[in-house]
Amino acid sequence: MKEAENQMLVIFGASGDLTRRKLIPALFELYVRRLLPEKFIILGAARSLMSNEEFRRKQSDYLSASSNISLNSKELGSFLELIYYVAFDTDNCKEYVKLKEMIVSLQKEKDIPDNIIFYLATPPAMYEVIPPFLKAVKLNVSLHGGTRKIIVEKPFGTDLKSAKRLNRKLELIFNEKEIYRIDHYLGKETVQNILVLRFSNGIFEPLWNRNYIDYVEISSSETLGIENRGKYYETAGALRDMIQNHLMQLMAFIAMEPPASFDPESIRDEIAKVFRSLRAFSTHDCHNSVIRGQYTDGEVEGETVVGYRKEKEVAADSNTETYVAMRYMIDNWRWSGIPFFIFTGKRLKEKRTEITIHFKSTPQQFFKGQCAGSSCNQLIIRVQPDESISMKFGLKIPGAGFEVKQVSMDFYYDSLKKDKLPDAYERLLLDAMLGDSTLYSRSDALEASWRFIDPIEKEWMKHPTRNLLYYKAGSNGPRQNLIGPEIFDSGNK
Ligand code: NDP
Repeated sequence: MKEAENQMLVIFGASGDLTRRKLIPALFELYVRRLLPEKFIILGAARSLMSNEEFRRKQSDYLSASSNISLNSKELGSFLELIYYVAFDTDNCKEYVKLKEMIVSLQKEKDIPDNIIFYLATPPAMYEVIPPFLKAVKLNVSLHGGTRKIIVEKPFGTDLKSAKRLNRKLELIFNEKEIYRIDHYLGKETVQNILVLRFSNGIFEPLWNRNYIDYVEISSSETLGIENRGKYYETAGALRDMIQNHLMQLMAFIAMEPPASFDPESIRDEIAKVFRSLRAFSTHDCHNSVIRGQYTDGEVEGETVVGYRKEKEVAADSNTETYVAMRYMIDNWRWSGIPFFIFTGKRLKEKRTEITIHFKSTPQQFFKGQCAGSSCNQLIIRVQPDESISMKFGLKIPGAGFEVKQVSMDFYYDSLKKDKLPDAYERLLLDAMLGDSTLYSRSDALEASWRFIDPIEKEWMKHPTRNLLYYKAGSNGPRQNLIGPEIFDSGNK
């Protein structure tokens, strides 16, 4: 396996939740699995005043309390020695001199070459502020033949205009090849497995098109609410928070053409083509092919929970959607005429993200039973929880006659691996260190996805309450608890 070059990771927003809950644990796992470079340093940067020791202690406390991590105190101790912290005002250009001094002195002290990854784990407003300051102190380029990369967290813009503006600003400071726009869904094993399933098996590709597929469903339901992120969620909503990024990326992996080769640019070319082939929504589609909802008081997993409008930092008359169902088309040779459906929602009955490929039924149906009148054949790719792949088909019920029952052939991903599956951030951080951007979004694809989403947001802004449905927390969502394409008008599939 390729090894990552010796380098330094500078995390902005290091005093925050993402760093503590995701980035440091992922780096620790990489350390334990001996996948970090031989010489490696993590430099946390934020405004909060803290010494190295305090910062290390905070990370150590979290790691020690985390049930997902198997700790060995010797390993934890040596890992913590890789971590440093610098407190400085990230809003103030002059303070970046202090950051630079710290970087240079650590590089000297630890004999680390001038290879740096900057990770923007700050509030999104800072994504446009920090890079120009890095440029002002010439941290964006290496004068010593080293490398620079910048990882930008989600959300990447709030609409096409802001995404374009952010892209243009970043491109003035870093090359496209140095910019890593993260979407942690692509770091999930099952998501990467879509590519392997499709492109390493001869049996699926001949069926993977409009001739044999009836429709495709991508759904992501959560039992959680907005988890004290009311302020952010009020400006985002489910369409921006889940669909524009995560679920559209899943869709692209399902819908893309086989790449010319398995290098990052060939794969990202195909992803961008899918987004460019999405049929633009008309005003009519924005209201009729999209259903939005908002949860009200209810009970989830036995606990009473409040409705969205009663959540902290949410307006009492908020029209922000916490649920979206969409029906849309991909206008290309492979998918012409085949509807795609996306569903996502918070405070639903169960937590589950999966993709279901519904195959067409046989031309004639001879048998009665579960498959009568519809296709028995579905391929279900479960992304979370219990990562798995299931193939459904009809079989005869033993005994007299020919009654059909739908059965399932199931593969559970963890049967391939005894240890737990690596967290998405482990894979993505390692890829960035290795310089592999396959699982990161490219600017053209990102802008194309916003181009598709923008008209819907604009239409909703014009008509904030039109067709906004309410659903009880703990239910399957609006529309009488229906799930799947049936929630759209029947016959319009
Ligand atoms: P937090 O609010 O917990 O942390 C953000 C950090 O940024 C703070 O520690 C803050 O530290 C620092 N910061 C730097 N400059 C500013 C500034 N001008 N105003 C406010 N804070 C500043 O956020 P998260 O860690 O949860 O999220 C960070 C980014 O990652 C966000 O963009 C979020 O969308 C994204 N993200 C987070 C996920 C998560 O699970 N938490 C998941 C996916 C994406 P200080 O005050 O010390 O400077």
